[in-house]
Amino acid sequence: LRILGIEGTAWAASAAVFDAERDEIVIESDAYQPESGGIHPREAAEHMHEAVPRVVERALEHARETHDGPADEPPVDAVAFSRGPGLGPCLRIVGTAARALSQAIDVPLVGVNHMVAHLEIGRHTADFDAPVCLNASGANAHLLAYRNGRYRVLGETMDTGVGNAIDKFTRHVGWSHPGGPKVEAAAKDGEYVDLPYVVKGMDFSFSGIMSAAKDAYDDDVPVADICYSLQENIFGMLTEVSERALSLTGSDELVLGGGVGQNDRLREMLGEMCAQRGAEFHAPEPRFLRDNAGMIAVLGAKMYAAGDTLALADSRVDPDFRPDQVPVTWRADEPE
Ligand code: ATP
Repeated sequence: LRILGIEGTAWAASAAVFDAERDEIVIESDAYQPESGGIHPREAAEHMHEAVPRVVERALEHARETHDGPADEPPVDAVAFSRGPGLGPCLRIVGTAARALSQAIDVPLVGVNHMVAHLEIGRHTADFDAPVCLNASGANAHLLAYRNGRYRVLGETMDTGVGNAIDKFTRHVGWSHPGGPKVEAAAKDGEYVDLPYVVKGMDFSFSGIMSAAKDAYDDDVPVADICYSLQENIFGMLTEVSERALSLTGSDELVLGGGVGQNDRLREMLGEMCAQRGAEFHAPEPRFLRDNAGMIAVLGAKMYAAGDTLALADSRVDPDFRPDQVPVTWRADEPE
């Protein structure tokens, strides 16, 4: 079973081939780098327009070279693409590319939810049965767990995504996008200063802490101290709710997803919390945490094997596609 995945919800134009028999994932990515400020939807879409054909061609070339079936057979069994959530103008380009390719090589189309893909790549690389998943990405922050045929949202951000909050602070400071790695580096020399910490039930909020961090910078608080405190509070909030989600579900497995998951301090906090409760913790390698088509191809393979493909007429993209809208067809035989 071989699936070609295409990702392009925001900044990463990416294509990948997942070969299930060899358990091999080959990813070709081309990142959009804003010249100034954050991600501009129109510029990001122009990047997709230009880069998606290039990365798809490279992935296809790999699929052709490693294909050992008859020459007239398509080199992959299906084309999977990120249907949402994400920036509409980017998603529409990816959707068009996926539809065109599936028609051209005459294979089915699989529409993948980007957030569920962040979760499933963690299950795939850890071999976990029923984990709770913390998705800590740019535009989102969710705690998800499987129940009765769906991934349920146990907790989520009440306002901005976690990475976006960090990026907004670094834009204020004048640092280039993306801000997360710069905050991580600066935090190493910092000390704690008081910033808001907002958890309400199972949900968290990041806009207050982001504004307070900007104000602190304007008041000449050392930027290293603000970065250190931003990390301690934001990751503390994510860790607290992750622990509550483990306790609520009785799960003893936590997987991490999303680009913010590349942060060592976040992984350290989650790892310590899991060790204290006797739970297992898994963070996929960075190339699977940030946006990438490998995760789209891997979930695409599971959906394809379950017969969960899309008719062309139903293949519209959805910028607000929530993870709990997805019927989890590929886990139908698994125990609750
Ligand atoms: P989504 O997956 O919700 O669509 P996204 O498309 O913005 O989000 P991701 O690739 O999951 O993308 O995450 C990008 C975010 O990760 C950016 O906000 C970036 O600042 C953040 N990030 C990257 N590296 C680090 C790091 N080391 N520490 C903290 N944040 C980081």
